[in-house]
Amino acid sequence: MNVKFLGACREVGRSAVIVEAGENCCLFDYGVMMNHSVRFPVHISPKDLDGIFLSHAHLDHSGLIPLFYLSKRLPLYGVEPTFEFTKLLIKDFIKISGYFLPYEYIDLEAMMDHCIPVNYRNEFDFKGIKVNFLNAGHIPGSSQILIEGDGKRVLYTGDFNANETRTLGSADLDYGDLDAVITESTYAAEDHPKRSDVEKEFVSNTTEIVENDGTVLVPAFGVGRSQEIATVLAAHNFKYPVFMDGMALSATEILRNYPKSLKDSDLFEKAVKKTRWINSWNDRRKAVKTPCVIISPAGMLKGGTAIFYMQEVVKNRNNGIFLVSFQIPGTPGSILLEKRKFMIQGRSRNVEANVQKFDFTSHGGRSNIQEILSKFDSKTKVFTIHGEEVNCVKLASWVSKELGLEAHAPKPGEKFTI
Ligand SMILES: [Zn+2]
Ligand SMILES: [Zn+2]
Repeated sequence: MNVKFLGACREVGRSAVIVEAGENCCLFDYGVMMNHSVRFPVHISPKDLDGIFLSHAHLDHSGLIPLFYLSKRLPLYGVEPTFEFTKLLIKDFIKISGYFLPYEYIDLEAMMDHCIPVNYRNEFDFKGIKVNFLNAGHIPGSSQILIEGDGKRVLYTGDFNANETRTLGSADLDYGDLDAVITESTYAAEDHPKRSDVEKEFVSNTTEIVENDGTVLVPAFGVGRSQEIATVLAAHNFKYPVFMDGMALSATEILRNYPKSLKDSDLFEKAVKKTRWINSWNDRRKAVKTPCVIISPAGMLKGGTAIFYMQEVVKNRNNGIFLVSFQIPGTPGSILLEKRKFMIQGRSRNVEANVQKFDFTSHGGRSNIQEILSKFDSKTKVFTIHGEEVNCVKLASWVSKELGLEAHAPKPGEKFTI
């Protein structure tokens, strides 16, 4: 079996890995990099592929898949609601990226026609290769993919979280013997604070601001994080109004159709019923004058409906802006956090509102990753991807030094035989 890395090599973004087994060539993810400009993985022609396995909907894993449907009709496997989320995100991506993208809406539709939904732990045969999707605990529908061919077993973790959240159970870590593992390394160098402590602090600081007649804006990624925040508030019986806006609403609607993808669908439904949906500019103007919580994309304040709320919320020291997502350096969210400044209509404004960051991560931390890798035997090869260069390299050298396993932080285009 051969494994070739086309993206997410010593960086976070544009995940793409090829596995060649027997006569087949399969692709795990084909995402985009969205830091400052949009960048793509190493090219592969659709005629060289037999099938695509999608780990989850985030654009850094899914964003370039429609490209293959310009000329070929490949089967695309994933666990719902991955496909519906992917469609929602790519539709928005097409809208904001316009002619920079090498495909159009019609290609996204062709992709959607070739989706094959599978269930977790339901091994199936793909042209002589055994494929098994395991829960990744990262966002609803997210998967780790286990593949068996040529007498070898290889795991691709995708993005995974070994800790429970309010919406999802922890990743399924029962892999059995592996010949190779391709692991994400996003937080290979740091541990996260205890989730229950983060929740408590978030709810108590939110309550304090709302009780002082302030508004708390929570800029959050529309798919996954927005629903998690609403569910956290519901779990703590937060008694003040919670509004939701933008893409978070469409994602919530999709998720309601897939209660089985949630850890506690009753709690989620309670959160949805409690949440007030913003449907118009009038609603928006009213909400921002109400002592309440407003959950609105985008998580790093690069766009979305949060921008409108920011214009109002920043002015008053009674208000709060609570960031709940990772902030890529250089994004408006990271500048806000460091300098308490935000660009409004082309001018940099001082932010009077209370700015705080809460670590509601959906990735495992250093101890999680190290503990999982420690369980493999000496024949397992480890490949570290989907992390900053220093994290991928450090994790690979920790694995070879501490565990004595063969480990690599691959570079784009590198190929290995398992
Ligand atoms: Zn992800
Ligand atoms: Zn990712």
